[in-house]
Amino acid sequence: MKTEANKRILIVGGVAGGASCATRARRLCERCEIVIYDKGPYVSFANCGLPYYVGNVIQAEEKLLIATPELFRDRFNIDVHLEHEVTHVDPARRVIEVRDLRTGATREEAYDALVLSTGAQAIRPPLPGIDLPGIHVLRTIPDSRKIRAAVESAQRAVVVGGGMIGLEMAENLVHRGLEVTLVELAPQLLPVLDAEMAVYVAEHVEQQGVRLRLGQSVTAFAALPGGGLRVETSQGEALATDLVILGIGVRPASELAAAADLALGARGEVIVDDFMQTSDPYIWAVGDVVASTDIVTGVRQPVPLAGPANRQGRIAASSVLRSLGDPDCLKRPPMSFRGIQGTAVCGAFGLTVAATGATEKALRAAGETDYQKVYLHPGNHASYFPDAKPIHLKLMFARGDGQLLGAQAVGEADVARRIDVIAMALQMGATVFDLEEAELCYAPQYGGAKDPVNMAGMIAANHLRGDLPLARWEDLAESPALIVDVRSPDEFARGHVPGAVNLPLEELRARVAELPRDRECWLVCGVGQRAYYGLRALMQHGLDVKILPGGMRTYQTFRQA
Ligand code: FAD
Repeated sequence: MKTEANKRILIVGGVAGGASCATRARRLCERCEIVIYDKGPYVSFANCGLPYYVGNVIQAEEKLLIATPELFRDRFNIDVHLEHEVTHVDPARRVIEVRDLRTGATREEAYDALVLSTGAQAIRPPLPGIDLPGIHVLRTIPDSRKIRAAVESAQRAVVVGGGMIGLEMAENLVHRGLEVTLVELAPQLLPVLDAEMAVYVAEHVEQQGVRLRLGQSVTAFAALPGGGLRVETSQGEALATDLVILGIGVRPASELAAAADLALGARGEVIVDDFMQTSDPYIWAVGDVVASTDIVTGVRQPVPLAGPANRQGRIAASSVLRSLGDPDCLKRPPMSFRGIQGTAVCGAFGLTVAATGATEKALRAAGETDYQKVYLHPGNHASYFPDAKPIHLKLMFARGDGQLLGAQAVGEADVARRIDVIAMALQMGATVFDLEEAELCYAPQYGGAKDPVNMAGMIAANHLRGDLPLARWEDLAESPALIVDVRSPDEFARGHVPGAVNLPLEELRARVAELPRDRECWLVCGVGQRAYYGLRALMQHGLDVKILPGGMRTYQTFRQA
């Protein structure tokens, strides 16, 4: 039996999850030996900052280095071995095989606990020409260095993939003066959004000069005779470019785990329990390589985000030390991972996109139909204070008790703050009634006395109380309802829902008799507010009324989605 003093915790991967785990383990235990191996040349670097280094927003490469091996040694007494690849795990003997990539020498190292934080690998589909020079992925500092160098002599770029990294790269390449075309297989940008919410992003990105090719896939790459590349798409288009960035997603880097016979999910992700322990009692795994359970849908899947990786690293450290019998850790209650809710934010050309919880498409895919949704477009702060910007917000909640299920927001200012508030509420199991009553910061330059988060809660709560029946834009085409547009005649003339009649809010009470009593009336206005006022009046006159949530602003997105 080893004494505590020489218990060895080995960690594979020294960035988000691995570095968090190592330093937390040291804070909990002074006596253990903690060693990190990373096959790359850097430890604990800012991979989330890489697109901005390519865009020269972050100018000095050193800024990406959050910590160095020396800092780990001096501050934490943790050994970091860079350019050391762990090539094999032998769970029976509890040893790993490590190759020093600088010398080629291989050695074995024994462990009492092993933590895998090997991250994810960028997907490179097996397309003709995929290995041509000029086709890049962005995962590491050396990758970003190569792309920066390529950008120097490039005029055109094709970004393949319209997820967060693809979009960030498009922005940064435009920032560097390149003409950018973005090709995305799905008919929308950003899978963290529902299609109608992604319309705002597509509109904005196109206004910045990015050429979007949505609903198209790349089928082949070829070298052009005079230099550069030809990118062929499924629509038969041939795009000439100087460089290509592949941002089509990642897959868990779980080769070591697979070879060690750890339980894996369908996509190769490592299966862990709430304490980040794998199917082997001496091996833990965290970050992009693992599957986590979605707290809304219950679906278990990998969600490659830095926040969960860091939190899981801390939890694994505590679990490891309890398993190793650390007396201090055994005195404390165990820490466990609560599950994932996919809270994410991304910036693109001054627009912020943020989301938490389930999207509507994820709810449907999980078989959930008992939900309701609202759309609203409040200002980020009081409208009378200069420079108020709209926030386009979608909130989903359970039809029965109003429990929060998910939210998405797009806008130029203060978007992440609203989604963060909803994210916390959602994690705590809150309902729309809690959002309605949330007491949030207010001064005119910061928000509203009824904050957008309150507004979302109020609309949803009004609906659940029966004060605000909601129609669905999806049902518009099939519905026999009379569409009543309560905006002014001028606004109506500038564009309206086909078949709608115009009855301005100010005339509504006097003209109630013109509206049918044997047919539903669906009210619509600019963003939903006037329709709500009209609805309350008409309901009290005994009419069967609903509003089309989010008004014409939301209608435009449904038309384009
Ligand atoms: P990583 O941080 O990727 O670390 C894995 C490490 O393991 C790597 O250094 C690798 O070299 C090492 N390794 C793998 N196999 C071995 C082996 N066999 N031997 C030794 N070492 C090995 N997330 C956000 O939440 N917000 C963002 O804005 C954001 N932006 C991003 C931008 C980019 C360009 C990238 C690439 C990612 C971004 N992410 C973002 C995702 C986030 O960085 C990851 O979710 C997070 O880093 C995962 O942490 P991890 O520890 O699981 O893996």
